Amino acid sequence: MSQTKEIPLMEKIVSLCKRRGFIFQSSEIYGGINGFWDYGPLGAELKRNLRDTWWRAMTRDREDVVGLDATIIMHPAIWKASGHVDTFSDPMADCLVTKKRFRADHVEPQSGTVYSYVGAVGEEVPVDSTGCKALLNHVAKHLEIPAMNVPDLATEVRTLLSHPDATHEVEPLDNAVARIVGSVLESWRDEKFSVLLPAGKPPESARKVAIQFYTSRGLKNPALLGETTAKVENSRAFNPENGAQLTEPKPFNLMFHTFVGATASEDDRAYLRPETAQAIFAQFKNVVDSTRQKVPFGICQIGKAFRNEVTPRNFTFRSREFEQMELEFFIKPDEAVEAVCGSVAQWSESADLSAPQPNWGWEMWHRYWVAQRTAYYAGIGLGADVLDYFWQGKGDLAHYARACVDILFKFPFGTEELEGIAARGDFDLTAHQNACGKPLEVFDEEVKLAFAKWTPEQRAALVARKQNENSAKEKGVLPAEKIAEWCERLFKGFYVPHVIEPSAGLDRLALAVLTLAYTEIEKTDAKGNKETLTVMRFHPRIAPKKVAVFPLLKNKPELVAKARAIYDTLKKHVAADYDEGGSIGKRYARQDEAGTPFCVTVDFDTLGEKGPELLDTVTLRHRDDGSQERVKISDLPGRLLPLVS
Ligand code: ATP
Repeated sequence: MSQTKEIPLMEKIVSLCKRRGFIFQSSEIYGGINGFWDYGPLGAELKRNLRDTWWRAMTRDREDVVGLDATIIMHPAIWKASGHVDTFSDPMADCLVTKKRFRADHVEPQSGTVYSYVGAVGEEVPVDSTGCKALLNHVAKHLEIPAMNVPDLATEVRTLLSHPDATHEVEPLDNAVARIVGSVLESWRDEKFSVLLPAGKPPESARKVAIQFYTSRGLKNPALLGETTAKVENSRAFNPENGAQLTEPKPFNLMFHTFVGATASEDDRAYLRPETAQAIFAQFKNVVDSTRQKVPFGICQIGKAFRNEVTPRNFTFRSREFEQMELEFFIKPDEAVEAVCGSVAQWSESADLSAPQPNWGWEMWHRYWVAQRTAYYAGIGLGADVLDYFWQGKGDLAHYARACVDILFKFPFGTEELEGIAARGDFDLTAHQNACGKPLEVFDEEVKLAFAKWTPEQRAALVARKQNENSAKEKGVLPAEKIAEWCERLFKGFYVPHVIEPSAGLDRLALAVLTLAYTEIEKTDAKGNKETLTVMRFHPRIAPKKVAVFPLLKNKPELVAKARAIYDTLKKHVAADYDEGGSIGKRYARQDEAGTPFCVTVDFDTLGEKGPELLDTVTLRHRDDGSQERVKISDLPGRLLPLVS
């Protein structure tokens, strides 16, 4: 994905977020904690509004989706069955010099010249001439090169030991030599190390980094041994900041763990959920049994998730504690749809996705949810111009997934994932069914009746087709008897529902709307001075405060009383603000920075000073174009409420 760097803009946004109370660094008074963020007064309102719009769009406005609010800590077996214990990891690599940790697949690819060393020797190489001579002879004999007799024995020892074939093994020697050999070996490191230099940098820079590395390995003033060079292109094996070699990538499980109960033994190990989805699968049966929902239907949840990200970055974009908004939408397997409807609707560019149809299989449902989610984003101001889509290629998909699309947002630091929408087959429920030993199938009368009308030949043909599909798979091939068993259950009307999963991040969405809303405007004051003002152009539906009410002057009790009365009325319906400090211009600017779409000013006309026609009217000012109009106080709720909710 593209990485257009606009750091100054992000810096301005981060600073506004702190200054105006949208987002603070967690535990800031203690120096902060990496990857954790707090939402201040305006941020908390913004996030709540986003949460509410999602909840309303995904469940309240629909008959076919219900909500869930599950615990963060669940039975650890859930994470074993879901595969998170074994495979929920990112590859991590450490800089061999600074120890800084990188997510190996996120390291910026580097090109240039690699300087490699076979090892180094420290300055403590002995200078005791007898011993060193003996050692030299020994080493020379071992390396099958002529013995030498030179003044600077230490240098020679270093040179000899730099031979790549040199070995630490020395035969028994007299005590003096043994002592010298010991100290030589102590001051010698044959650990290989490389440094990548971009074109144009002098070799000395590489040597400096290599010396740092061997110094960190305990050598004093190390001399580098066996330097060689080679060109590389697009390598992720080096620290982009200093060129030092990174360790080999190692999988790092991202789940935070804790212990439940007082003994804190391994048996009590539990995990903070890394996603909200698994609770939905674990409670699937309870929801089916306690509601009148029938497949196709969905269960959605908003809640905290925790991932010990290797490198949290880009403000709140990749955090270690964040909120997810996830829907698991359960559908019939395509074979069941085929039995009931005669065929499964095929997706095409011109397919009508406006209302679900009984003949939809997984592909139409998947496309439908992509369209629904896109419409949701448009409804809060994220239109086609700021979104993009990344369709995973067949080779990138997990073996159970049929399709996965990431909805991307054009952040100032690059176009990155906001939400993933995956067609996950019946993988999750089946995994839990197998692990807990309890059936998570549904019984579908309609499917049973439909298959009852099939001839034995038709059924046999379906079994054969499923067997062929199964054996043609590259990964996740099931034993033939499992396929036959699955078909037999289906013919009786039992199946594990398949699932479409739109999974969005609330914090990423908050960051997206903050970056999109951020606008700077130039203003020239009465004295001709130019200043840059910030306007947060949030969609009114998600703006933290919907309306601010001002009395023109704070020292006129009639104005204040009227303004407070309007504020008291409006705040019963929407998040409103009352402000009487400073000039009206200053107050508008303050509200613009907070993103308040409407301001209401009570002035002397409101009190009827210019005649009865303006009595009980106020100035309604619109944030985005600064326009103002005169509105009756009694009309305010009717004018504003439809725009902000
Ligand atoms: P990424 O590839 O960016 O790590 P992901 O594909 O692992 O994300 P999912 O597991 O699909 O993410 O999670 C669904 C959504 O949860 C993401 O689209 C994102 O909005 C949000 N999310 C995931 N990880 C984080 C995080 N560390 N910080 C903030 N939001 C996150």
